Amino acid sequence: MGAVKIPSSSYAIIGGSSTYSINFPEDINRYVKVLEKDLVFNTPWGESPPFKLFALGDKRVLTLKMHGWRPGVARADASRQVFWVFKQAGVKKIIAEGGVGSINHLLKPRDLLVATDYLDFSMRKDVSLDGAYLLTMRQPVCPLLRDKLVVAAENHSVGRVFDRGVYAVTDGRHFESEAEVQMMSRMGADIVGQSMCPEVYLAREIGACYARIDMVVNYAEGVVQQWEHRELKDIFYNEAERIGTIVLEAIAEADEDDWSCGCRELRKETLLK
Ligand SMILES: [Zn+2]
Repeated sequence: MGAVKIPSSSYAIIGGSSTYSINFPEDINRYVKVLEKDLVFNTPWGESPPFKLFALGDKRVLTLKMHGWRPGVARADASRQVFWVFKQAGVKKIIAEGGVGSINHLLKPRDLLVATDYLDFSMRKDVSLDGAYLLTMRQPVCPLLRDKLVVAAENHSVGRVFDRGVYAVTDGRHFESEAEVQMMSRMGADIVGQSMCPEVYLAREIGACYARIDMVVNYAEGVVQQWEHRELKDIFYNEAERIGTIVLEAIAEADEDDWSCGCRELRKETLLK
């Protein structure tokens, strides 16, 4: 294990809690063809989590499950391993998915939200691969990929789809306290989770476009009503197919050569040499 050559791929999907309970992508779409699986790569931060490479039409897509902690691997290192692999593979367009808590009291469980910005409350802001670039975090989410996700979500959602919102990032793995949720609400957050950062920084560093879709799986503490573990479990197991379908459809519609979004221009050469 570990000495595997990294295959080339222009697209990547980071699987989060919403597709964790299924075998992605095989369970979703009989037209996808898994080319390779259980791909573990050596990275400067240790062995990567296992990746799959699959074909979706004429596109090659790398995917992995990011949800959950591997014993002995810090979250920051896990993210570095994954984005280092993406960089070697030549990944240009990245879509991530996950489950979040709702801070905005207008949201409810099963709503889908395509975030447009973030507030980073994690303690790992210095996470980078080599620090060779100055990273502008204006427009952190690719508007083109975001549009594809919103259209796909509207095609397949039974609930509501929000095409904007602010994602507050915490370290976890515990959920937030009621006072923390109130603070984040006053600062402008709509949802809370543990994934968007450092992914959004690392995507910019490797010059890739990034967008994500999240399903509200519970109310944050002190918002609307106490959340129920039963409902959380229900969403975790029953909504995976829908999210998986949305993500595959968005990738199918994405164009690796379309840089009209301007994401790449937000990465500049560092002046600190
Ligand atoms: Zn872009």
